[in-house]
Amino acid sequence: MSLSIHRPTIAQVLHQSYSGVSATDTRMLLQGVLDVGHAHLITHPDQVLTPDQEQKFNSFISRRINGEPIAYLVGEREFYSLRFEVTPAVLIPRLETELLVDQALERIPARGPSKVLDLGTGSGAVAIAIAKHRPFASITAVDFSDGALIIARMNAKYHDATNVCIVAGDWYTGVAGEEFDLIVSNPPYVADGDPHLGQGDLRFEPRTALVAGTDGLDCVRRIIDSAEDHLIRGGWLLLEHGYDQAEACCQLLRGAGFGEVFSCSDLAGVMRVSGGKRGSFLAQSC
Ligand code: GLN
Repeated sequence: MSLSIHRPTIAQVLHQSYSGVSATDTRMLLQGVLDVGHAHLITHPDQVLTPDQEQKFNSFISRRINGEPIAYLVGEREFYSLRFEVTPAVLIPRLETELLVDQALERIPARGPSKVLDLGTGSGAVAIAIAKHRPFASITAVDFSDGALIIARMNAKYHDATNVCIVAGDWYTGVAGEEFDLIVSNPPYVADGDPHLGQGDLRFEPRTALVAGTDGLDCVRRIIDSAEDHLIRGGWLLLEHGYDQAEACCQLLRGAGFGEVFSCSDLAGVMRVSGGKRGSFLAQSC
């Protein structure tokens, strides 16, 4: 009598429920293990997992039950319809950050040269998304973390974003003496001690990419304080911030002499990005 070993099929894996793991998470993990897209799972329900695939999938499931973010397990995340490699060295790109890219693209000429600075680039998602949509712009993307610089460079290479230059630096130190037409940043903006830091994906993300002092605004202040030295007259500074920080950001921008100060909300209706224009004083209400 021969022993038959029953390896699960794609359909069986997808129909199984794992406590604390949503059906979408299960699907994403399986896609990651098989290195295929959603369509493949639908069109190959009877494909049997190899022993290695089954083992990897089971390990992903138990790590997911332990809370590890899907993006770190599968090693990638989509942002602005582009695929980005991510590791625990970088913040996982968020859907709401697409608003920062939208706002930047509105202010960068589609057909002329322009210099853009992305501060605290992490995975490079914001800089690379801008670069792919504005091929005539030159983007400088700065990060102080060696781990992040490696990932950002890999992502720039993967997307053939030859108009992105990734440099090491602590905010503006990497671009001393340089001026830009536009500065964008998604800095750390969570307050130290915020209970969200102990929940969900944030538990696994680099604290240096999340936390910025007791009110979460330490990095925003640093960026705004020195922005004038690195922006041309009429250049824009655009910042992502926390759900309750729009007013504080607008005040800081006005205090630093920025005009046309504005905030706008993300798809969830949360005020998420604020900005202002250097050397123009037509202030609007927040
Ligand atoms: N948006 C992230 C969060 O609150 C924080 C990212 C950041 O600090 N830039 O989960």
